[in-house]
Amino acid sequence: MTGIEALTVAAGVSALWWGLLRQRGWGGRVAALLVMAAWAVAADVWLWGALAWVTLVGWGWRRWHPHTGSPRGQAGRLREGMRQLLLLSWTLVAAQYLLYVWQLGRGETPLLARPDIVDAFLPIAGGLGLRAWGALGLTDPHHPAATVTLLVISLSALLLGRSFCGWACPLGLIGEWLHRLRSRWLPGEWTPPRWLDMLLRAQKWLVLGFLLFIILLAVPTAALPGYLASSYHQAADMKMGAFFFTLTPLAAGCLGWVLLLTVTFRQGFCRYLCPYGAWLGLLAVVAPLRIRRDKSRCLRSQGHDCDKCSRACPARIEVHQVIAVRSLECSDCRRCMAACPSRANALHLGSARRRLGAPLQLALLCLFLFLLPLLADGLLDLWVSQTPLAVRRHLLALLPYLSH
Ligand code: SF4
Ligand code: SF4
Repeated sequence: MTGIEALTVAAGVSALWWGLLRQRGWGGRVAALLVMAAWAVAADVWLWGALAWVTLVGWGWRRWHPHTGSPRGQAGRLREGMRQLLLLSWTLVAAQYLLYVWQLGRGETPLLARPDIVDAFLPIAGGLGLRAWGALGLTDPHHPAATVTLLVISLSALLLGRSFCGWACPLGLIGEWLHRLRSRWLPGEWTPPRWLDMLLRAQKWLVLGFLLFIILLAVPTAALPGYLASSYHQAADMKMGAFFFTLTPLAAGCLGWVLLLTVTFRQGFCRYLCPYGAWLGLLAVVAPLRIRRDKSRCLRSQGHDCDKCSRACPARIEVHQVIAVRSLECSDCRRCMAACPSRANALHLGSARRRLGAPLQLALLCLFLFLLPLLADGLLDLWVSQTPLAVRRHLLALLPYLSH
């Protein structure tokens, strides 16, 4: 792992500990001890150093910024904190990766290592790697981080729904900022009519269908080892980068369309284009933890015409009309809960019997997003790409000619 990856994992595992230790009873403490044991087994010297830094910075932060907010606003603060830290981490990762490829292209030895987390942007490589692992027991030596990230994010959706979208995805946060910027210059919340909304939403299902076709059908199982060894697959990250950075008319058109939807509509990218969000929404159908409304506490049962939860929902879900939110668009962002008047407190995230507090939601998400990849790296050696530097340099020179 690179320094930025190690710092991010250390921060995520610290948040996991923190969330577990805030649980009442012995369960949380036992789980925190198990996490500590897993860390001790899997962490290398880089990660221990990163943990020391994170602890020091966290201690300093708590000392100079003592916690003053209300407990009701805790979820919002945790969510914003996590999203902003991950965006910062992604920005540094992108800068390090660009520097790496630039130096590679100039024939120099890169100063800094390639951050393997960039492979998280390769859903096809991840899906085919996962298939090869499951069907043939073959691990992908070139983009193992793509396999691991696709697996852990999908697993998180089976338990926590689309919490990844609401709490961790940096693209969602950038989209919100761009939309806010547009609203400042051109005020107004623009909501498309229902028919256009459905038409626009069809885009992400089409993209997801295309990706699933390639992952599940286009490459026969027997051909998977050959595909994973191909030059095209080995250079998949550089091909993806070149698509966006060389700005062909096609790439410029795609980027322009993404930007237009993002600034025009609230959550335009997540709602209309992101195939990852569509995939996680499908998996979230079976998730036991979801937003639930207690009818007996809801002010509507007392005759008030309240719909504050629905008005706060960025996904335009009619929360005030349902008992449990089953929409594929819900990202467990808890904005509806924050909007519900405190005298009612009628909404919760959890199962029908148990409320899931924001610290535990954060902890569970960190378990999937940080602890499992750490174990995959430390115990299974499944994170760092094994593609030799000379091969990568050679493929970079051939990039325009590589195709599947
Ligand atoms: S229903 Fe609540 S948690 Fe789900 S997206 Fe809407 S505001 Fe967020
Ligand atoms: S905001 Fe709370 S009280 Fe109002 S409709 Fe929604 S759940 Fe009921």
